[in-house]
Order: sequence, then structure tokens, then C-alpha cells
Amino acid sequence: MNIALIAHDSKKELMTQFCIAYCGILSRHTLCATGTTGKLVSEATGLDIELFLSGAQGGDQQIAARIGYNEIDVLLMFRDPSGPRPNEPNEANLLRLCDVYNVPVATNIATAEALIHSLDRGDLDWRNIVNPKK
Ligand code: PGA
Repeated sequence: MNIALIAHDSKKELMTQFCIAYCGILSRHTLCATGTTGKLVSEATGLDIELFLSGAQGGDQQIAARIGYNEIDVLLMFRDPSGPRPNEPNEANLLRLCDVYNVPVATNIATAEALIHSLDRGDLDWRNIVNPKK
């Protein structure tokens, strides 16, 4: 499965800790991320992550395009509940696209944990039917 990672600045440490905790599961999947998030996670875990541009430079829009091509199976997007800073991507468009393409999405760590366990159990294997290329 293709998993995309995005974390607003105040949630980057949480995303890193999450990926350290679930490194074993994540390593069995294909990962991509916005630039800074991916760099931090990759340095902390050694996971191989395809890095897009930083969010400020349009990395979130690159991930949105992947969702539009049905190339993302799970989106983990840890957002700042007080709202994105001016240079951070607004998540509304990404969340809308996840609804359009039925992409499971977590915007906080509690849902992310539920999703990662579902992924590990094979509960999300129906995504392979939606996108048989992977
Ligand atoms: P980043 O993008 O991972 O490059 O920081 C996400 C964001 O800007 O919140």
C-alpha cells in the first residue's frame, strides 16, 4: 500500500514518534511525504520515504495529485487543531479528495493508530481492488 505522511509543524515530533513506534509495519509499505515531514521521519527511523516538496512549496498539492490518480491508499495528516500557519497547507482540499477517492485518512494520532492496525491486519486490502496496480 502507498501511505502518504504530512504533519503541520506543531505535530512533526508526534508524527516522528508515531513512525518510530510503527516502523515495522510502515517498512512493509511504500511511503511518501511532504519534504520536511519526510526528512525528519526518515532520519529518525531509517525508513525509505519518497520526498515531495515542502508543504510551503506545494508538496501537499503533489500528494493531492497522487490521490487524484488513485495512487495513495492511506493518508496520515497530523494537523494543528488551531489551524495551519500561513506557510502550512490547508488540509480542506486534501480531505475533500480523500472523500472523493475513498482514501482512509487520519488527522490525529488516535485515528492513525486505528488505521495502522487495520492496515497490518489486512482490513484495507480492498484498496488493492480499487487500485490493482500495487
Ligand atoms: P512539510 O509540509 O512536511 O514540508 O513541513 C507540511 C506542512 O507544511 O505542514
